[in-house]
Amino acid sequence: MKTYALNLQVHNQNNLMQTISKQTIEIDGAMGEGGGQVLRTALSLSICTGKPFHINNIRANRKKPGLQRQHLTAVHAARDISGAYIEGDEMGSIALRFNPNKVQSGNYYFAIGTAGSTTLVLQTVLYPLLLADGDSHLILNGGTHNLLAPPFDFLDKVFLPILKRMGAQVTITLERYGFYPRGGGQLKVHITPTPHLNSLHLRERGQILTCRAKALVTGIPEQVAQRELQRVSKKLKWKKECLELCPLPSDQGPGNVLLLEIQSEHITEIFTGFAQRGVRAEAVADGAIKMAKDYLAAEAPVSEYLADQLLIPLALAGKGEFTTLTPSHHTLTNIEVIQHFLPISIAQTQLKENVWVIKVKN
Ligand code: AMP
Repeated sequence: MKTYALNLQVHNQNNLMQTISKQTIEIDGAMGEGGGQVLRTALSLSICTGKPFHINNIRANRKKPGLQRQHLTAVHAARDISGAYIEGDEMGSIALRFNPNKVQSGNYYFAIGTAGSTTLVLQTVLYPLLLADGDSHLILNGGTHNLLAPPFDFLDKVFLPILKRMGAQVTITLERYGFYPRGGGQLKVHITPTPHLNSLHLRERGQILTCRAKALVTGIPEQVAQRELQRVSKKLKWKKECLELCPLPSDQGPGNVLLLEIQSEHITEIFTGFAQRGVRAEAVADGAIKMAKDYLAAEAPVSEYLADQLLIPLALAGKGEFTTLTPSHHTLTNIEVIQHFLPISIAQTQLKENVWVIKVKN
């Protein structure tokens, strides 16, 4: 096997000099959760900090380990915006070297080629592009509502509004829905640079203002979506006028998701049930209902999912805190990866049953 230095010499002499002068951060992709987030966080922060990294055991804890289409697209997107030197960017690869240059704003088109999550690719390049010296316009093609990823609605109504509160200007438009397995969805994103993110202090949820359930459906019987909404009505006792069946254009399916939106004084949260082949509508709804119930009972503003996604912006801001439910594996793992790149303290303290505070400071 060739050594890294040898490859670099052949590939790019300048890059070699840079690599020698900068220390490469070693990441074990099997750490904690051992999923794609370890890689995505490393890519983001490598560009933001200018620190090269080497990762091994990529996605070691997943059924199909290594780089799959979505991860490979994230790697290439990270390379394209930063002119990075990379090694190991192949399907199934379990190791990658990444050495970024300065981030470049611009117009970018990232196509996953499958139904892989566009929102996760976006989150990989978002933070570096916020630090760029000009506006960026992105088009991302792939899945927009994927199991095990934030759906478009979550980014639009939950994640980006919090980022906006921290000073970031990002607008996102859904141009086409993309569901597994067909994909073909499209997001359009406009990022205005924000040289420094403000800290976040989010300790209270405040009063619950509205609760709404939306069942999106296309290419499968609307009855499925109706049954999901009936389940919400029965188990959460949300009123009829809060339940909405949303048929989507027939060329954008087949697909179905149930979105439970809870708007409070200080935050909006969304819990999603993703339809899957062989899973009954009631079971799809029950998954989202359970998350919504746990959230309502805990009285913390930030959900388990949002918690792991807020760690990078808080770490880049240098300080901030929020109250959330018991930290997930994703949260604990993301803290570890972030601390490889940034000299930051991230503490989690339990306040009461299923309520924790996460504090980030320099
Ligand atoms: P990974 O499993 O390592 O690829 O990371 C998945 C990411 O997707 C994490 O940041 C999760 O918080 C996020 N995620 C997964 N499911 C949801 C969901 N239903 N709503 C919002 N975010 C999600």
